[in-house]
Amino acid sequence: MMANWSADEQLVRDNLKRIEERLSEACLKAGRKREEVTLMAVTKTVSPERINAALSAGITCIGENRVQEFLAKKDSLQLEGVQKHLIGHLQTNKVRRIVGEVDMIQSVDSVHLAEAISKAAQNTEKGMIDVLVEVNIGGEESKSGIAPEQLDELLSEISGFSGIRVRGLMAIPPILTEETKKRAIFSQMRKLFIDIRGKFVDNVSMDILSMGMSLDYVEAVLEGSTMVRIGSSLFGERHYQ
Ligand SMILES: *Cc1c(COP(=O)(O)O)cnc(C)c1O
Repeated sequence: MMANWSADEQLVRDNLKRIEERLSEACLKAGRKREEVTLMAVTKTVSPERINAALSAGITCIGENRVQEFLAKKDSLQLEGVQKHLIGHLQTNKVRRIVGEVDMIQSVDSVHLAEAISKAAQNTEKGMIDVLVEVNIGGEESKSGIAPEQLDELLSEISGFSGIRVRGLMAIPPILTEETKKRAIFSQMRKLFIDIRGKFVDNVSMDILSMGMSLDYVEAVLEGSTMVRIGSSLFGERHYQ
């Protein structure tokens, strides 16, 4: 069948094919089903045309980093049936603008932020929103996220907030080149995830482990990731304005 794709569609489809091949291979190697891993397209700096190309190629979940950028682009996107997640650092003063616009916020890393999200969500139609707690697994000063040692305490405090439902953990590990080191970090995340799932059975439903980006999604899947967040491998190199 001959298809007449635009340049954006051709690029995204070629990239997606390669990503899908690697994802399937990793799942097979790990003895997991491909359906156990959600492929999120990370859309920061990407034009609406190119994002729509990914959506028409079958992407069903997108992630944006910034509130303003998402709000500016969303009306130009074909978002029917598509999951929208906020994955970037969120300031409390922007919470009200984004809750109600997305399906999940993956960057909760303080009680203060969780409380603001919970309050804002209670004023929306759904009355609540799914969140992930972001863990700074590499202990990097430059990164947001909560330290692994503080995770239990944070979860105890926020699990009572009725406007949020904690669905799991998100991590952005340090950039490592050695496969064994990448896997070791993801394995630590997996352990945290399992550990918490056992502890907070009542209020927290831990079913999403969001980890793995363009340079390490294979290793993340091998270590149990249920959601990989891929930007540049899908859309091409980012150009920041
Ligand atoms: C930008 C970003 C990604 C995607 O990064 P790539 O390396 O381009 O795949 C994933 N997660 C978060 C939180 C990001 O900010």
